[in-house]
Amino acid sequence: FWNRVNELARQNLPKATYDYFIAPAKLISVSGNKAKILINSDMHKDFLKRQTDLFNTASLEVYGDVLTIKILSDADMSDADRKEMNRSIETRTETPDNFSETILEPVRTNLQKKYSFDNFVAGDQNRMTLAAALTITDSPGDLYNPLFIFGNSGLGKTHLLHAIGNEFLKKHPRSRLIYVSSEAFVTDYVNASRKKQMDSFVEKYRNLDLLLLDDVQFFSDKEGTKNEFFQTFNALHEKGAQIVLTSDRPPSELNNLEERLVSRFSWGLTTNITIPDFETRMAILMNKAEKTGLNFPDETISYIASQINSNVRELEGALNQVEFLAKMEKNSTVEISTAEKAIENLRSSNSHSRKNNLNITKIKDEVSKYFHLPVADLSGPKRIKEIAYARQVAMFLIRDLLATSLPAIGQEFGKRDHTTVMYAVRVITDKLKNDNETQRDVDNLKRKLEG
Ligand code: ADP
Ligand code: MG
Repeated sequence: FWNRVNELARQNLPKATYDYFIAPAKLISVSGNKAKILINSDMHKDFLKRQTDLFNTASLEVYGDVLTIKILSDADMSDADRKEMNRSIETRTETPDNFSETILEPVRTNLQKKYSFDNFVAGDQNRMTLAAALTITDSPGDLYNPLFIFGNSGLGKTHLLHAIGNEFLKKHPRSRLIYVSSEAFVTDYVNASRKKQMDSFVEKYRNLDLLLLDDVQFFSDKEGTKNEFFQTFNALHEKGAQIVLTSDRPPSELNNLEERLVSRFSWGLTTNITIPDFETRMAILMNKAEKTGLNFPDETISYIASQINSNVRELEGALNQVEFLAKMEKNSTVEISTAEKAIENLRSSNSHSRKNNLNITKIKDEVSKYFHLPVADLSGPKRIKEIAYARQVAMFLIRDLLATSLPAIGQEFGKRDHTTVMYAVRVITDKLKNDNETQRDVDNLKRKLEG
């Protein structure tokens, strides 16, 4: 359980937040349906108390039910607690392997309650998607089937999938639905076929009224899986069940999936979510700022919105950082100067963690994996387009993330001249201004490398 909490927190929280709040927390014990956690300051305590989704998700996954979480500081601990902590054992055993059988009926939806339509801020860049998403909850399987939502990372795709699911369940309480990432779908399939439990897999996915499948760009290109998904899609579509898919790219660019599947994605409606404009960023920040209990003057909100214009996830991360600093400085009103300092901290801690963990080999490995190329090709002589592009991206990332000198980068790529490196960096820098595909590639790779 505790491992899972940490994993989820690492995936879902900004790194600085994780390092500060979660990493120092310790599990005292899990026994019965109670978990006790030790943390050493009141501010930490407040923060942890608000992470109910995190604890609920982890305990549901591991134990199949929700634990009551008690957060203690050193002073709150009794002798018994101390003893328990020294043994530091989760006395409750994890759910045995037949877990999946017990949860098949009723379906485990995987929905996260915190993502709703109420807390999704509308803007020009998501209005059409939002309208389609809402329509689906009223008339599923009808107008927009499937609904295919694409857009870069951090723009609210996962949020919307959960919002659709939660709203759907409200309007159709007896319906069966599942939220699942493509990776989890693949894992589920692989496990089922290995354990010879294909029946329960088929029963689980083909009897749905609503399938919410996240990040289809991560769908494995293994034949068996793809075929199973194709069958699932057809079975659901045929009986009028609603399907919603998300991806970081349009269907036409899903190279790992076959034509016959991709063409089905365009049967319904395809919508694109893009980076929110300044006003929408302000609205998103105001919405979230309200929940901090602090007073955020408009200038401060506007300052943050002007500084962070990449995606909503980073916007949230920045706001968290500002909230944190304001609370540490015991300010109830958050001045611009605090926001400035917080964002500065965030930037320097990002570049710090990059420098600590990254090196040229890691960047090359990640780039070659991402483009499905042998790593040797990056440094080799081949000039075919795909390889040349991947090589340019790798050079760009090394320059950008590690600030390595041009001649040194050239050396690393089969003793190429520094002018070649300079050219590569310039090409990618230019493309980043107006080429969606390059923006996405660089964005994805940076996230992989920094995460
Ligand atoms: P994606 O799945 O597209 O990578 P997420 O759905 O995980 O993005 O969104 C990242 C974070 O930003 C989430 O915490 C989400 O709640 C928030 N978010 C994204 N878009 C909006 C929006 N329009 N209004 C409010 N919060 C948003
Ligand atoms: Mg997502």
